[in-house]
Amino acid sequence: MTTIAPTSPYPHLLAPLDLGFTSLKNRVLMGSMHTGLEDGRKHFPAMAAYFAERARGGVGLMVTGGFAPNIAGWAKPFAGMLASSSAAKRHQQVTRAVHAEGGKIALQILHTGRYGYHPLCVAPSRIQSPISPFTPFELSAAGIERQIRAFVRCASLAREAGYDGVEIMGSEGYLINQFLVSHTNQRTDDWGGSYANRMRLAVEIVRRTREALGADFIIIYRLSIIDLIPGGSSWDEVVALAKAIEKAGATLINSGIGWHESRVPTIATSVPRGAFTWVTHKLRTELRAAGINIPVITGNRVNMPEVAEQVLADGCADMISMARPFLADPEFVNKAAQGRSRDINTCIACNQACLDHTFQNKLASCLVNPRAGHELDLVITMAPAKKRIAVIGAGPAGLAAATTLAERGHSVDLFDSADRIGGQFNMAKRIPGKEEFEETLRYFGQRTTLTGVQLHLNKRVDAAYLIAQKYDDVVLATGVKPRNPRIPGQDLPGVLSYIDVLHGQQAVGQRVALIGAGGIGFDVAEFLVTPAGHSSAMDLTEWLAEWGVADPATVRGGVVRPVPTPAARQVTLLQRKPGKLGSNLGKTTGWIHRAALKMKNVEMLSGVNYERITQQAGGLGLFITYGEKRTDATVLEVDTIVLCAGQEPLQELLVPLNAAGVKTHLIGGAQEAGELDAKRAIDQGTRLGARL
Ligand code: FAD
Ligand code: NAP
Ligand code: SF4
Repeated sequence: MTTIAPTSPYPHLLAPLDLGFTSLKNRVLMGSMHTGLEDGRKHFPAMAAYFAERARGGVGLMVTGGFAPNIAGWAKPFAGMLASSSAAKRHQQVTRAVHAEGGKIALQILHTGRYGYHPLCVAPSRIQSPISPFTPFELSAAGIERQIRAFVRCASLAREAGYDGVEIMGSEGYLINQFLVSHTNQRTDDWGGSYANRMRLAVEIVRRTREALGADFIIIYRLSIIDLIPGGSSWDEVVALAKAIEKAGATLINSGIGWHESRVPTIATSVPRGAFTWVTHKLRTELRAAGINIPVITGNRVNMPEVAEQVLADGCADMISMARPFLADPEFVNKAAQGRSRDINTCIACNQACLDHTFQNKLASCLVNPRAGHELDLVITMAPAKKRIAVIGAGPAGLAAATTLAERGHSVDLFDSADRIGGQFNMAKRIPGKEEFEETLRYFGQRTTLTGVQLHLNKRVDAAYLIAQKYDDVVLATGVKPRNPRIPGQDLPGVLSYIDVLHGQQAVGQRVALIGAGGIGFDVAEFLVTPAGHSSAMDLTEWLAEWGVADPATVRGGVVRPVPTPAARQVTLLQRKPGKLGSNLGKTTGWIHRAALKMKNVEMLSGVNYERITQQAGGLGLFITYGEKRTDATVLEVDTIVLCAGQEPLQELLVPLNAAGVKTHLIGGAQEAGELDAKRAIDQGTRLGARL
């Protein structure tokens, strides 16, 4: 039976969890997330500050990013590893900082197996993964024994370092998972063949870790409950493994969803909230029916306390794992406990500053909270002297600057010509699958009020006004204007800008050509192929069918043929550059956007020249050619053409203000539109706000 804290705003979520030898103060696990801080000795002070801030924020238990137990288990060359007492000593600064804040922390032991991005990687069988260029060495029986010992040694060192426990990473397609599935394990010895043999590694690691560490150490086992790969584990195997893992001595079972090589999105913003909690529910029900009471953890796209509370109240799990939400807001739990859920800076699941950074070998941070991972170098302190500052533009850049400045004690006037805050985010949130962007606007709306920013909407300011007001500083966050692609015929009726379309100001026909295939071109395509007022991100059953996710009890791995909903329009997406469209989209989300449009039969044309647009009988003709000769034009017959040809900075106030000697600062799109995104806009606004 689940304990509840009856007087709390989230009685299930904030109830303590008794683990017998210790107790967690609530049901919130900050899930493991690789930040890059693990990968260098010099980062340990930053890692200590990062976790201490989150411990202070009230989370029940945290898990570090993955540490390899040995070189063979490295994620990449010289990745973070815990294999010696000297390394354990370094970790003490992390554990001490967390304990000083009253928190608890476990170390994740991650052996990547064939996912290792280095030539020394190992696996049950010599089969290369589709996401690594390295073919693994097949482990001998002695080699397997060495891996088990490395796991146990790593757990012992974690205890020596002061950790409250370890998480053994057994999911996401890493080494242990590779042993479980015959697709990657084709051994014929005691470690392959029957399921009893394939799960032996997982069970032995947990059993021997418990044996070595004693009863009073948390062991979380991350168990892949739905592999989302063809030929993945069957449901019976998942249940058998969970039972064996509990028997072997695990304290908690954490749900893993999908292998990294899976072609089903599992955490992107277009995945409905709590999309996989039903699978944990299924497992928990089986375990309880068998009289096994081990607490089970669920996660994936749970990003607000209301969602987490409901998942627990529905009996899906005993604890909720959230990882990225703690990058976005270290104070998540405290705010929830104080009934201030509206003040939470919500993770919008964009992956832009966290996972995408990891894949670019950069330190992870957060688009909505640039302080994440930078707790020591982006410090917000009270300003030495109060100034009067005007911020022009309440888009992401202006909002970040204005609220940071006001938080530091300045008097801030924030102006926008629109009737609401948010700038271009008001268009972004209208894209099906990007509804989460509204949360950032809600957060900044709250923060504007709380910090005392004086907000002036419906006010387009000009230079004369600003000069007359004699501000100490003026921050120009006026954003962008659409680039004019200067295509002959673009003034014809039926040729629209993305702004007309996304604000719903102009009707769009059935056959549409989109000029420009950047982030906005892709988003407008998604908007146009989706029936009005509809988004599969809001309907779980439809989303699961669309991506081919099935009950793992009916098919191994839980994957079947996708059944996409029909497209609302026939869309052609064009760009001048040769090559694949969408190559500049985020590393971890670009493939999802491309796959989603492909499912809707969006035609993608690259390497085109736009020759002209003409009026045709019953519509428009877009004349395109290929190559330098520009001959043999092809005509695309369409009803509507939408210009998504990029953006240019809007700087009309800069010259007159500078001429009048006003101290100005340019941020966001107003400074530079190329390569602009909200990550840069919020980061610049926050950093300027922390400095002035
Ligand atoms: P803007 O958001 O353009 O805000 C500028 C503001 O200034 C506007 O509100 C405007 O009204 C106001 N303003 C201008 N002149 C004046 C004046 N004289 N007086 C008063 N007010 C004035 N980015 C991402 O990182 N990830 C995404 O997934 C993403 N998706 C997007 C999807 C769409 C459909 C669009 C259109 C954009 C998307 N973006 C995304 C881009 C992101 O929204 C922009 O990078 C970001 O909004 C830029 O912030 P900004 O504050 O510089 O400018
Ligand atoms: P963008 O990504 O720079 O793309 C502009 C597109 O227009 C490109 O396809 C470009 O391709 C084309 N183009 C450029 N000049 C042109 C011209 N003169 N004539 C015709 N086509 C031209 O810009 P955006 O799509 O406007 O997006 C603005 C910003 O918002 C981007 O920087 C992006 O990061 C951000 N955003 C991000 C996301 C996201 O999911 N992360 C989503 C939306 C927006 P060719 O030059 O090859 O034709
Ligand atoms: Fe969430 Fe985006 Fe921040 Fe990552 S960068 S934590 S996905 S809001």
